[in-house]
Amino acid sequence: MTDLPATPITQDVLTIPRKLPEGGPVNIIGLTRDQLRAALIAAGTPQAQAKMRVGQVWQWVYHWGVRDFAAMTNLAKGYRALLEKTFTIELPQVVTRQISADGTRKYLVRIAGGHEVETVYIPEDGRGTLCISSQVGCTLTCSFCHTGTQKLVRNLTAAEIVGQVMLARDDLGEWPVQGAPKDETRLISNVVLMGMGEPLYNFDNVRDAMKVVMDNEGLTLSRRRITLSTSGVVPEIARTAEEIGCLLAVSFHATTDEVRDRLVPINKRWNIRTLLDALRDYPRLSNSERITFEYVMLKGVNDSDADARRLVRLIAGIPAKINLIPFNEWPGAPYQRSDWDRIEAFADIIYKAGYASPIRTPRGEDIMAACGQLKSATERARKSRAGVIAPPAAQ
Ligand code: SAH
Ligand code: SF4
Repeated sequence: MTDLPATPITQDVLTIPRKLPEGGPVNIIGLTRDQLRAALIAAGTPQAQAKMRVGQVWQWVYHWGVRDFAAMTNLAKGYRALLEKTFTIELPQVVTRQISADGTRKYLVRIAGGHEVETVYIPEDGRGTLCISSQVGCTLTCSFCHTGTQKLVRNLTAAEIVGQVMLARDDLGEWPVQGAPKDETRLISNVVLMGMGEPLYNFDNVRDAMKVVMDNEGLTLSRRRITLSTSGVVPEIARTAEEIGCLLAVSFHATTDEVRDRLVPINKRWNIRTLLDALRDYPRLSNSERITFEYVMLKGVNDSDADARRLVRLIAGIPAKINLIPFNEWPGAPYQRSDWDRIEAFADIIYKAGYASPIRTPRGEDIMAACGQLKSATERARKSRAGVIAPPAAQ
């Protein structure tokens, strides 16, 4: 189940040169409707027309996927020229795209400053999940996570977060064609904030980006199709429900503070009890909007029957499902994946206690696209260069 056939990996280089904004024109991507309205007014749009103009520009950009103001044919030529002068429509740049034997696509995405993040598209029967990043690197240092070995470089802007959804749509050819019958199939049916970074440490940009993605005109992903995964930033958990309203996943991973301190060091700040209290108070908690508890299966570390029973006791009363993630290995990782029968025995205990306990099938492992394997290519290269012993100087 976990081993993928050794089919050759496809790797394309899709370097599309796009100019990056340099403090001059304002990038329209990632602005909320209110921000866009204010920006259009600042550019000279009469107050009374601003709402209508927002609607028009919004539809061109997020419904039709247009990147050129000149193509916005329901706007007067002079107004298009004004927009052209004041604004840009900029996406991050796709540097490489890798396609796994199982169809998973991993994009290496370059953002301003030459930094890189990864975005992963995971196709499933008739639908698909896009896993997006919220930071370059991560401040946290979860010991089983490849991203955690990379220092935080910076937060992504709202434009760079929304841009990941748009560039995946570009690659998948998912923009509607004018005049063609409406196609209801959604290649990107779900978005998960489970890529690089801790989304709740970049709250405002993540919230604004999700507002754009969830807007009911344009990208139109419902809030129930967006899942934000956090390692447990307790003070921001209630805000996630109130200001974003998406589903919540929590990287739980251990059933004692002693083990969780080692695996998810943020536990030293907000321990298991504090985290669970915050989840019990989660404003949207209901059976239809259960919290997902993510639990990485590490051999001999957190995978015993006693752990499974403790887990069930700890989460009693919380509408929840437990997503078991077989550990995805990466070079130099200090853990091993639990054996398959161990994972199944663990899942069985949880299931018998009344919780859904799906085991996440690792996807895209051959291109290092599975959960927790992401790390920017430049960082990887830097590390491996550092590991190379310098050749002796020429005589
Ligand atoms: N920073 C957020 C979201 C990104 S990680 C968080 O920690 O929740 C998405 C999920 O993958 C988290 O549950 C994370 O703990 C898990 N993960 C990280 N490294 C992993 C690995 N090597 N194998 C399996 N899951 C991993
Ligand atoms: Fe950061 Fe999440 Fe990785 Fe922990 S698991 S280091 S919070 S990305």
